[in-house]
Amino acid sequence: PVDGAPVRFAVLGLGWFGPDVAIPAIEESDFCETTVVVSGDREKAERVADEKSVAHALTYDDYADGEASDAYDAVYVVTPNALHLPHVETAAELGKDVLCEKPLEANAERARKCVEACEESGVELMTAYRMHATRSIRWLRDIVQDGAIGDPVHTRGSFSYNLIAAGEDMDQWRLNPDLAGGGPLMDLGVYPLNTSRFVLDADPEAVHATTVEGPEEFDGLEKYAAFTMEFPGGAVAQCDTGYEVAGDNYFEVGGTHGRVRVDVPFNVDADRTITVSAGGEEQVVEVSEPSEMVEEFDYFATGVLTDMAIGPDGQHGYEDMRIADAIYESGESGGRIDL
Ligand code: NDP
Repeated sequence: PVDGAPVRFAVLGLGWFGPDVAIPAIEESDFCETTVVVSGDREKAERVADEKSVAHALTYDDYADGEASDAYDAVYVVTPNALHLPHVETAAELGKDVLCEKPLEANAERARKCVEACEESGVELMTAYRMHATRSIRWLRDIVQDGAIGDPVHTRGSFSYNLIAAGEDMDQWRLNPDLAGGGPLMDLGVYPLNTSRFVLDADPEAVHATTVEGPEEFDGLEKYAAFTMEFPGGAVAQCDTGYEVAGDNYFEVGGTHGRVRVDVPFNVDADRTITVSAGGEEQVVEVSEPSEMVEEFDYFATGVLTDMAIGPDGQHGYEDMRIADAIYESGESGGRIDL
C-alpha cells in the first residue's frame, strides 16, 4: 500500500489508446483511478465517461480553463504528438503531475518546452515508454548488465507496420507532419531507439541514418528509416522502422560472448519470447508478462506519492527527440551527425 493512493487521473485524448488500453489499465491498477476524461468532442467525452464510470467529462477548453481541477491529481496525455505540449503546459500551470505518451512531442524544441514547464512548476513529468515496465525487456537488460553475454557490442531492433497494406485511412494524424512531427520513426522507431538507450544505460554520441520518403499521401514524411547510433565505449545500435514493411518486431543485443533476443517486444501486452545464446548453449524462455500498462501506471503513481525518482522522465524523452531530429538531419544530408 502507498499512502495517498489512488492518484486520480484526467485522461486527455479519447482515441484508441486512451479508452481502449490506458483506462482499463488504470482500472486494474492498485494505485490509480480515472476521474476525468477530456476530448475535443463533448458528446464523446460524456459517452466515454458514462461507459467507463468516470465522474467528469470535459472538453480541452474546459481543461485549459481549469474546470474540475479539484477532481484529479495527475494528467495522462494521449493526444497526437504535436498536441502534447499545450496540455502539458496547462497541467504544469495547474500543479498536476504528468504522464505523457511517447514521443514526448513532435521535435526536440517542443519536448524541451514540456520539460521546462514541468520543472518551473515543480511537477513530475514521465515519458510513457512501456518498455521500461516490460518484464522481458527488463530481464534482457539485467542479462546484459550482469555480463552474461560479455561486453555489449551492438543492439539491433526493428518495429514496422504496413499501414498501407492494412488499408488504413491515409487522412490520419500519423501522416500529418504538423501533428506527428515525423513518420514511422516518431511512432514506432522510437521503441528500438529508446530500448537501446535503456538496455545499454547510455546515450548515443552520434547517429547516421537513411530515410526513404513515402508516397504523396505521406506529405513528405518518411515511409522507412534505418539508423545507427554510436554509444560511448564503441557499442552501436542498428535500428529500423517503416510504414510499408510487414510487421518487423524484435530487439536483440550481441555481446563479446553471446547474444540475447526478445521476439515481439514492442506490441502492447504481447506474448514474448527471450532467447539467450551464450557459452555454446541456447535457452528459450516464454515470458509470462504482467500488463505493462498496469505496471506503468502503478509505477508512476508510486513516484508521485513517494520520494522515488521517476524514470523515464521528461529529460529522457527529450533526449529521444534530439536523437530523432539528428536522424532526420542525417537522412537529409547523408552525413554522420554528432549529438
Ligand atoms: P488516435 O488517433 O487513436 O487518437 C488520438 C485522439 O487524440 C483522437 O481520437 C482525438 O480524441 C484526439 N485529438 C485531438 N486533436 C486531434 C487532431 N487534431 N487530430 C486527431 N486526433 C486529435 O491515436 P492514439 O490513441 O493511437 O495515439 C495517441 C498518442 O498516444 C500518440 O502520442 C501516440 O504516439 C501514443 N501512443 C502510445 C502507445 C504506447 O504503446 N505507449 C500506443 C499508441 C499510441 P478526442 O476526439 O477525444 O479529442
